[in-house]
Amino acid sequence: MKPVTSPIVTTLTTDLLVIGGGVIGLSCALHIMETSPALRVSILDAPTNPGIASRAAAGMLAPLAEFEEESDLFRLSMESFDYYPEFLARFCPHGPRVEPRGLLIPASDASQARSRRIAEFASRFAEIEELSGAALHEAEPALHGGRCTAALRIPGGIVNPRLMHDALSAEFLRRGGSFIRQRLRAVEFEEATLTAVLLDDETRVEPVQALLATGAWSHHLGELFGLHLDVTPIKGQIARFDVPDGWLRHVVHEHHIYLAPRSGQGIVVGATMEDVGFSPSVDGGVNRDLHRLAVELAPGLRRIPISESWIGFRPRMGNGEPLMGLAQGRANLLVALGHFRNGILLAPVTGRRLAQAWTGLGDCSSGSIKTC
Ligand SMILES: Cc1cc2nc3c(=O)[nH]c(=O)nc-3n(C[C@H](O)[C@H](O)[C@H](O)COP(=O)(O)OP(=O)(O)OC[C@H]3O[C@@H](n4cnc5c(N)ncnc54)[C@H](O)[C@@H]3O)c2cc1C
Repeated sequence: MKPVTSPIVTTLTTDLLVIGGGVIGLSCALHIMETSPALRVSILDAPTNPGIASRAAAGMLAPLAEFEEESDLFRLSMESFDYYPEFLARFCPHGPRVEPRGLLIPASDASQARSRRIAEFASRFAEIEELSGAALHEAEPALHGGRCTAALRIPGGIVNPRLMHDALSAEFLRRGGSFIRQRLRAVEFEEATLTAVLLDDETRVEPVQALLATGAWSHHLGELFGLHLDVTPIKGQIARFDVPDGWLRHVVHEHHIYLAPRSGQGIVVGATMEDVGFSPSVDGGVNRDLHRLAVELAPGLRRIPISESWIGFRPRMGNGEPLMGLAQGRANLLVALGHFRNGILLAPVTGRRLAQAWTGLGDCSSGSIKTC
């Protein structure tokens, strides 16, 4: 007869457990570790999640192209854009750096109204240039001269999100943090206090504090924590062309498509916005559409095949705004999620605000920090 054995349960303790190891979780962890260096911080991250947004993104830092009116989120985005160089120097000492590419907003027939709205709005915050004819052709020879007869040039940049994700992870380890590569399965509370997190491999983690930063997967996880988090995954498919550096000089940002050059890695073209749940497939038909749209902007891409394509899930809150701060009704739980289309841009400021909330320096119920 087989002996009856009970599973061996490993119990870990930590001061702060960050659940989710995307750029948002990493930025929060690093900022909090800086304010409290003696803290033991662990990041719990599911090992093979396909579609992690932080590794799928294009990496555009484009607040002036993403917003057409003032809002808390716009101000937060501008703050993060300004803070980016310092953020990278502090937490990614060996790179990557922001590539300060200007953003071109083509004013083709179809996009003239958008370009006018952006010109009106962006000129309140930055110097913008209107390029047409020869000036536009000289600035960006790859663009279709017949289709793009004029464009706005506004400040913006790009960062390689995969390199940044790798660099932030390495810095987190270097500063004494640890990763737990497992999936969260269940949680235990004593009244309003989270007492334990149970993992797929039966490990039990007992944190003093926890931070939920699980991006598009937050709706289901929120339910485990007794929180209603109105987060929907919005799938994005994106593709890359291998072209030499300099082939495209600017980020070209049209309403339904963008072309973004990456040093040493050609151009990324993106991206779809699909409300189809967690469907991990890369669709060949979508690639053909992306290629066609890219060729309409830059005809030289006609003869260049897509060299790579992938998908990711953007975390969209019902009201389109991220949620950051203390979780209402929970004694030791913070949240930072729902960054939708701009999580790469917003990662620095999110970490900074969360660290302020952590130390009690910031008022988490006012301004752009919202509680749930
Ligand atoms: C195609 C595309 C293009 C984009 N382009 C841009 C852009 O140009 N500029 C910009 O600013 N933003 C862009 N974004 C948006 C940006 O990528 C996201 O807003 C941002 O990455 C969200 O980061 P996150 O850390 O919240 O989520 P994620 O990076 O998705 O990280 C969530 C983490 O939680 C983990 N997790 C989930 N469930 C569990 C569990 N049960 N247990 C343990 N861990 C779990 C996952 O494994 C993952 O590592 C783009 C997104 C996509 C998809």
